[in-house]
Amino acid sequence: MRFAPSPTGIFHVGGARSALFNWLVALRAGGDFVLRVEDTDASRNRPEWTDGIISALDWLGISPGRYEGPVFQSSRDASHRAAAVRLHEAGQAYFCDCTREALAERTGNAQRGYDGHCRERGLTAGPGRALRFRTPDDGVTTVRDLIRGEPTFPNDTLEDFVVARADGSAVFLLANVVDDLEMGITHVIRGEEHLPNTPKQQLLWAALGASEPPVWAHVPVIVNEKRQKLSKRRDKVALESYRDEGYLPAAMKNYLMLLGWAPPGEEEIVPWETIEAAFDLADVKPSPAFFDEKKLRAFNGEYIRALGTAEFTEAARPWLVGTAAPWPADAFDEGVFAAVAGLAQSRLSVLSEIVPMVDFLFLAEPPEDDAAWAKAMKGPAAELLADVHDLFGKVEWDAETLKQTLTEAGERHGLKLSKAQAPVRVAVTGRTVGLPLFESLVVLGREATRRRLAAARD
Ligand code: GLU
Repeated sequence: MRFAPSPTGIFHVGGARSALFNWLVALRAGGDFVLRVEDTDASRNRPEWTDGIISALDWLGISPGRYEGPVFQSSRDASHRAAAVRLHEAGQAYFCDCTREALAERTGNAQRGYDGHCRERGLTAGPGRALRFRTPDDGVTTVRDLIRGEPTFPNDTLEDFVVARADGSAVFLLANVVDDLEMGITHVIRGEEHLPNTPKQQLLWAALGASEPPVWAHVPVIVNEKRQKLSKRRDKVALESYRDEGYLPAAMKNYLMLLGWAPPGEEEIVPWETIEAAFDLADVKPSPAFFDEKKLRAFNGEYIRALGTAEFTEAARPWLVGTAAPWPADAFDEGVFAAVAGLAQSRLSVLSEIVPMVDFLFLAEPPEDDAAWAKAMKGPAAELLADVHDLFGKVEWDAETLKQTLTEAGERHGLKLSKAQAPVRVAVTGRTVGLPLFESLVVLGREATRRRLAAARD
């Protein structure tokens, strides 16, 4: 099994799913998993994209040392060129010097594919001459696909496609086959968008002497809520952005597996061990898979709530003391956080949400938000805050007493508790929503609370 990404951009969630599917098939079959970086498009590759792939795989549990590679496709250039030469020598490929314009002039429509003009011209290698594979004129090519059955392609619809450029370097279709063949790959599990390439590649397997093609499996396309194929420009598709937002790898892995597959039984949230034991490509459905970000968020919330307190604190730590935290690193206090950790844990969908929930505890001043302020500071709010400031100087400092005190103060100003809470919350935390108010005040402490209430009246 192999995962063969091209390092030309962010690591797409679809790539992550293909990697997991390959990984699980290798695990279940006792086979090897190879990471092959298809870096032959020098104009689009960048080393940082390769690093991104490796670290994203690591995050998903596919860690360096647990697989073979990375093997860089560019390092196998000589093998690709040699295969092109073999195809030519065997008469299975021919040189062609047709330009796109010449072809369009002959066929009237370049879309229809190559017309075979150079098939029998016997051209030798030379500048401006690409190498084309001679596809059969009749018969069909049937692909055995574990997910799709036996898609069948009439050979007369397969044009004589280019396998090598004029400089002798192989194009994707050939390099990919040569590598799979020479690396002993038994299963090619990849996105549905590659299915049109598969009959051509299967012909190449045979032409290069393979006794049989690999087992193919084309996993379903992933679509958004409008049933459009997920796109880099329109949709959030980078695995990295989910990681950086605070999705747990366990939740992400579980969710990615549901894009085309379902664990046995009713439950969709299942331990990874169950997935490992149950996954079978034959159960993957060919129809488009909906990437439901809302569902993923809900999944993640469930996974967060299932963590033990210590695990939760560790998972949240990058947002608490890392560069994402808007307070200085030394302002963070373990004990203060521990006092609200449970309250926060039960309310989070993604870990980054921890920041606006607890920032009032670690920032010297509550964040300023004019809209929140305008919303909360209406009617008798200023008088109420003045009252509460005084009362909070005298009462016991526990959640029950603070609630009682605010309830009574609110009543004196004609406000129900829910209405009376709003200005207090904004004055003290800077926000209109957040953790339960009275527990928050207890943790923040009497002095800071009163100071903020006083400042709010100015
Ligand atoms: N480099 C190709 C891609 O990323 C590989 C396709 C394959 O898995 O065969 O789409």
